[in-house]
Amino acid sequence: MNCFACLREIEAKVEDGEIVSTSDAAIFMSHGNYGSTVLDMEDATVEVLICDACLVSRRQHVRAHVKHQKYERTEANVTEIIPDTLPSNSRLTDVQRDA
Ligand SMILES: [Zn+2]
Repeated sequence: MNCFACLREIEAKVEDGEIVSTSDAAIFMSHGNYGSTVLDMEDATVEVLICDACLVSRRQHVRAHVKHQKYERTEANVTEIIPDTLPSNSRLTDVQRDA
C-alpha cells in the first residue's frame, strides 16, 4: 500500500480485507458523509494510510479530539498528540514541510 498523501510505499498487514497493522503509518477509516459527492455510502468503508512523515509535516491540518469517557470527547490541541519531528525509532527520514 501507499501513503495517501505522498505515495510512499508502506508496509501494511491486511486480514479479512481490513488493514490491521502498518509500519510508520496511521490507518484512517471512513464511511463518508452527506457533504461528499463521491463518498456517501452507509454500508461501505474506505481505508487510507498516511505515513508518519506526512502526519508530522502536515499536523496543522489535523483536527484532534480526546475521549474522556465512552461517549464524551473534547477538542484537543493536535500539537500535544502529533510531535513536530519524527521520533528516533522512525524508519522514515524525509519530512517535507509545507510552505
Ligand atoms: Zn506520506
